[in-house]
Amino acid sequence: MKIAVYPGSFDPITNGHLDIIERAADVFDQVIVAVSVNSAKKPLFSMEERVELLREVLRPYPNVRVDSFTGLTVDYVVSQKARVIIRGLRAISDFENELQMAVTNRKLKPSVETFFMMARAEYSFISSSLIKEIANYGGCIKGFVPEVVEIKIKEKLAQLKG
Ligand code: ADP
Repeated sequence: MKIAVYPGSFDPITNGHLDIIERAADVFDQVIVAVSVNSAKKPLFSMEERVELLREVLRPYPNVRVDSFTGLTVDYVVSQKARVIIRGLRAISDFENELQMAVTNRKLKPSVETFFMMARAEYSFISSSLIKEIANYGGCIKGFVPEVVEIKIKEKLAQLKG
């Protein structure tokens, strides 16, 4: 069974992430979407909220599982009996970081391969941060994120603004 892990912050899941997941689920027997703790980022949604949102959005995909992890991605991948890490590439600007991570992960665990998937053109400008910024200033994020995410972002921002 070919299992791939798609790690990320998913704060929150966007249609760009969803597109990568759908396409990966078509190729691999199982895809594990794994929420990781990125210490460099201050998340809007808690780990539990991000997992819950992902589970709701990904319910229609029988071979996609949602999980969370702390620690090294390669260790998590091995613990799941997977060999592949999937990452999405949007623009040249993603490349440097992704190359550094892929090379480092290869050094740490040579049996684990990183597969890159190019973002679909219409989603290539979408990032979770951009979505949050648009929503924060009252802009419309319809079409950029699944509907349930749109609702949850509005709720969360309203909550934060008291
Ligand atoms: P991380 O903090 O690990 O970068 P993200 O949730 O921002 O977590 O992204 C997870 C993965 O999804 C990364 O490989 C990122 O490049 C990719 N990604 C993010 N947005 C898109 C998009 N719109 N289209 C395709 N891939 C994307």
